[in-house]
Amino acid sequence: MPELPEVETIKRSLAPRLLGRTILAVEVRLPKLLAGMEPAALARRLVGQVIGGMDRRGKYLLLELAAGDRVAFHLRMSGRLVLRAAGPTEEPHAYLFFHLTGGEDLVYVDPRKFGRLYYLSAGEKLPPPLFALGPEPLGADFTPSLLAEILAGRRGAIKPVLLDQRLIAGIGNIYADEILHRAGIHPRRPAGGLKEDELRRLYDAIRGVLTEAISYRGTSKRDYVDGEGRPGDYQERLAVYGRADEPCRVCGHPIRRIVVGGRGTYFCPVCQV
Ligand SMILES: [Zn+2]
Repeated sequence: MPELPEVETIKRSLAPRLLGRTILAVEVRLPKLLAGMEPAALARRLVGQVIGGMDRRGKYLLLELAAGDRVAFHLRMSGRLVLRAAGPTEEPHAYLFFHLTGGEDLVYVDPRKFGRLYYLSAGEKLPPPLFALGPEPLGADFTPSLLAEILAGRRGAIKPVLLDQRLIAGIGNIYADEILHRAGIHPRRPAGGLKEDELRRLYDAIRGVLTEAISYRGTSKRDYVDGEGRPGDYQERLAVYGRADEPCRVCGHPIRRIVVGGRGTYFCPVCQV
């Protein structure tokens, strides 16, 4: 599933190319992608609108329209948003087309069909689950003391806390494992029981891993590509995720896979205590 670094990479690859284009037509081939809206209503709202930019909130991609309306995409398991030359497509899982000025289409592709699209009128409050998202971990207001506040008193394991979008937005299964390895913290440690130096290491690992993953344009394990169809490079640099029985890049001990909070979890039993 695309996490913060992948969605951020898609945003950065598309934003400059979409800016100022007008939506000429909208074609919906899978109506269930639209949360609470009929295809005809979506087309009515969008046709003629000018694209003003792109933004990201957690794992949501936001297409911003000059009039102030927004379209939020949640890519879920396998959603992709790509800009390509207009014309018929061979792609079997292309379900949504925005025909744009400049001879290109913005196409939503989703082999597993779990993605969702939300239309938000100007000034409209973000709908659930968007409005309930926790702070952006790379935002200026995400400080070590805010992280300490989020974790304080929680008896559950740290890993599910990192995955909880209501507490911190954008971290998923891959980066939670990478962050905990870099911080040297066992994924089953109680979230509220971290010592001050561990909290600081966790904070630095959250910011460090996510920033680094964005600089490598995300991790391509299965379906993920950026807005120009290019895969990311961070899979080459993963320290633990998907590396069961391979040597830890820090200490050489084999990486182990366990299940924490129902999710497959990779960690180093020597580096993470
Ligand atoms: Zn190790």
